[in-house]
Amino acid sequence: MRFNPAMTDTLAPTPKPGILDIAPYVGGKSSIAGVAEPMKLSSNENALGAGEMAREAYAAALKNIHIYPDGRATKLRNAVAEHHGLEPERLIFGNGSDEVFALLNQTYLTAGDNIVCGQYGFLAYQISAKACEATVRQAPEPNYKCEIDGLLALVDDRTRIVYVSSPSNPTGSYNTAEEIRRLHAALSPDVLLVIDEAYAEFVSEPDWETAFPLARHAANVVVTRTFSKIHGLGGLRIGFGYAPLAVAEAIDRIRLPFNVSVPGLEAATAALADEAHQTASRDLVQTWRPRLTQAIKGFGFDVLPSVGNFVLVIFPDQGLTAAAANEHLLSKGIIVRGVGGYGLPNALRITIGTEDQNRAVLDALSEFAAG
Ligand SMILES: *Cc1c(COP(=O)(O)O)cnc(C)c1O
Repeated sequence: MRFNPAMTDTLAPTPKPGILDIAPYVGGKSSIAGVAEPMKLSSNENALGAGEMAREAYAAALKNIHIYPDGRATKLRNAVAEHHGLEPERLIFGNGSDEVFALLNQTYLTAGDNIVCGQYGFLAYQISAKACEATVRQAPEPNYKCEIDGLLALVDDRTRIVYVSSPSNPTGSYNTAEEIRRLHAALSPDVLLVIDEAYAEFVSEPDWETAFPLARHAANVVVTRTFSKIHGLGGLRIGFGYAPLAVAEAIDRIRLPFNVSVPGLEAATAALADEAHQTASRDLVQTWRPRLTQAIKGFGFDVLPSVGNFVLVIFPDQGLTAAAANEHLLSKGIIVRGVGGYGLPNALRITIGTEDQNRAVLDALSEFAAG
């Protein structure tokens, strides 16, 4: 409306409905006052960092940072397609897979629609769905695991997208290939099923399988992956989705044209070829995951079985609480992740670190348990 000097006290720009009901995302803490180099085990980053090949490609990209990136990400697109055996034209690249979720939500959700996910579903799906004036329906996870029947029970005629992360963050649980197929078979073909496989490379359970083959022959399945975890490129923000061609083409209409940066594209392409770094990263996690789990259980705390690069530790409601454990870890220079935002105030999520970091975590927790 036109400026009316009489109304300056009462008028202000108003966010659209729902925006102010969204709790701002609080990321993993990254510093401790007075500690120069804290151990950051709060965001499931790769304890080995990025690989040498990715670092070199990043440095070499310096000469081209005045050039806009290739908006089609052709080089990375072809590398990913080759690496995973996928059709290049069906890939969607994003500023992290977080952006792929946001693009899916923006493309498919309108006010009054809903998404369905688990009780402990990743917050990124939920925040961007709410920004589309959609609602979030969350199925109970009584055993910290997404249950297919619980998800299906919440699907109604306004459901546009069902999100499942397998492996799941913050619980570390997963759904078997058979469960995912059953979920897909029970969904109407006009409901998108998004399988978030951010932690795929850390899984060794034989009944887990990537959903790429399911997606290949389905018109409503999207599988997402990220360069933030196994490849250690969280700071560069690159993820992708493998989608039906019609979905990829719809998303391309609203995607910002240059959403992945020049150094990001180069580093990700190089990372994909660095098998040695991927193997070392996976081995570190697979070696330490059972050790940490067993040792922390030995201190008397509950540790959920995890197939990701982190463990979720459950503390008692009284006495040796998660909040007290967090304080103790901080006093030792160790930053882990409180997951109260996920409705798990009695738990801490600990990223699996290097050997030294893991030993420091165990020393600190053992001391904490001893009082
Ligand atoms: C870390 C993570 C991602 C990856 O997010 P990016 O935006 O690609 O960094 C996706 N899903 C889950 C469940 C995660 O924990």
